[in-house]
Amino acid sequence: MCLFFTQRLKNQVQIIQTHSLYKHFGDTVAAHDISIHVNQGEIYGFLGLNGAGKTTLIRMLLGMIRPDSGTIQLFGQELHRRFDKWNEVGYLVETPYSYPQLTVLENLRVYYQLRQLKNQGLIDLVLEQLKLDKYRNIQAKALSLGNQQRLGLAKALLHRPPLLILDEPTNGLDPEGIVEVRNLLLDLAQSGSTILLSSHILSEISKVAHRIGIVHGGTLIQEMTAQELSGQLMRKLLVQTTDNAHALQLLHAAGYSAHENQDAEIEISNPDATRYPERVAALLMDSGAALRKLYVFSEDLEMYFLRTIRNTAQ
Ligand code: ATP
Repeated sequence: MCLFFTQRLKNQVQIIQTHSLYKHFGDTVAAHDISIHVNQGEIYGFLGLNGAGKTTLIRMLLGMIRPDSGTIQLFGQELHRRFDKWNEVGYLVETPYSYPQLTVLENLRVYYQLRQLKNQGLIDLVLEQLKLDKYRNIQAKALSLGNQQRLGLAKALLHRPPLLILDEPTNGLDPEGIVEVRNLLLDLAQSGSTILLSSHILSEISKVAHRIGIVHGGTLIQEMTAQELSGQLMRKLLVQTTDNAHALQLLHAAGYSAHENQDAEIEISNPDATRYPERVAALLMDSGAALRKLYVFSEDLEMYFLRTIRNTAQ
């Protein structure tokens, strides 16, 4: 009870708040009335196609560009010239920048100095966390794309900031690296860090983000929790029989909403059909329409994402 209450209180601290952000580049609307908040310990995923406005939001959050209008607060403090909490923020924006002639270790030492850190152990820790240890003496320019991304993340994490803002953090990583970074972010959030990240891959973001904001054409078109997302995926029962015409008659007579698709499968969209496919199987078998196949189809996340965007564009 006490732990639950403490957790609730912790989650209610808002680390990022934006209010009605607008940003135009000429005729391009890069941000239109964007209001979001991210609580402490939360991972917020900002999802959108290329050009949707993700990097623009991230650059505004980091004070790299100014919004045309609207306000941003980090740690409850308005982002303006006198904002003094940059040491509490770690970030990775677009292509991870490093000094190409310097080794991985030297690159991290530069950041160590810049951040005026006092604990040498932080460098070893981050090298280990990002599996960069064996590359410590390799020049940054000789790193693979994935390892350059790891170095970018290492710089973002070096000073153990309570807030991480990461633009496409898994860009260029191999599947193993994606899982490692995902687990690292989940661990960091578990121990109280707050993370805002962007991606154009919904299936990826849904594995790590507690809440997801879908952005399209600079507008936040949907915001939901990871659980709400899985509840919104379209499901249907697909059936093929030796006599689809007869099967359709039976299904309609039993009150199902069904039609035949171009693959000669019957699609049944009633939630009852996906919940109790055995009832549909029994109905058809009893009537002599022999089943060839019967399975529950669940829309994948990318299909959902594209459907949502298409519906909004109409
Ligand atoms: P990507 O996944 O491709 O990085 P994104 O969602 O991060 O895309 P943004 O980089 O924020 O999208 O771009 C949003 C829109 O604003 C795009 O149409 C882009 O061309 C435009 N844009 C961004 N920065 C500038 C700029 N400095 N000058 C002109 N247009 C810009």
